[in-house]
Amino acid sequence: MKTNPSFSHRLVLFCGPSGSGKTTIVHHLMKVFPSMRFSISATTRPRRDNEVNGRDYFFLTESDFRSRLGNGDFLESEEVYPGRFYGTLKEEVDRILDDGNIALFDVDVVGGLQIKKHFGPRLLDVFVMPPSIDELHRRLVTRATETEDSLMRRLGKAEKEMQSAFRFSHVIVNSDLDKAQAEAEQLVRQFLADEIPDPEEAE
Ligand code: 5GP
Repeated sequence: MKTNPSFSHRLVLFCGPSGSGKTTIVHHLMKVFPSMRFSISATTRPRRDNEVNGRDYFFLTESDFRSRLGNGDFLESEEVYPGRFYGTLKEEVDRILDDGNIALFDVDVVGGLQIKKHFGPRLLDVFVMPPSIDELHRRLVTRATETEDSLMRRLGKAEKEMQSAFRFSHVIVNSDLDKAQAEAEQLVRQFLADEIPDPEEAE
């Protein structure tokens, strides 16, 4: 049986290389769609100056992260960069969905593909592609949040991730942020208007 769009039990996933603009797009969508809630990931990477614990990430020590991993608290988790762990907490997603809101993910490609597999048609999955590696390089340098080492790691990972774009149902090329945001909005509107299988029956 199909149920009609109550927004509950729906999820939206944005993947793409660091510097692709996916986080900016995700923040834009939360302003446009009031029932969207960002799924706050846990990470062991250091907090940046503009970040707030419990808003941008749950910043954990590696030993806390490992202990939560041992407890089975993560839906997916990954060593995204050497020594830097990231993971989606099951309780975070449950809390959002139980409140009748739409869960919004901003994760890397490997984690994103796991989330996509887990939720199936209840999830809209979008890959955000930077216009080129050179442009990505320029954006990361402008952002000035990375050391030279971490910049090179991010670029190396970005090249690999861009080759996985075809695994996602939708690809947005972010050469112009306004256009990319409008495209993302349109995809979400369409997704919310579509019927999806009853979550009870999908599980
Ligand atoms: P950043 O350090 O720039 O915040 O994030 C680095 C990468 O880790 C980004 O691609 C980001 O989307 C990804 N990321 C953030 N949270 C998670 C998560 O919970 N799981 C996975 N697999 N990746 C994540």
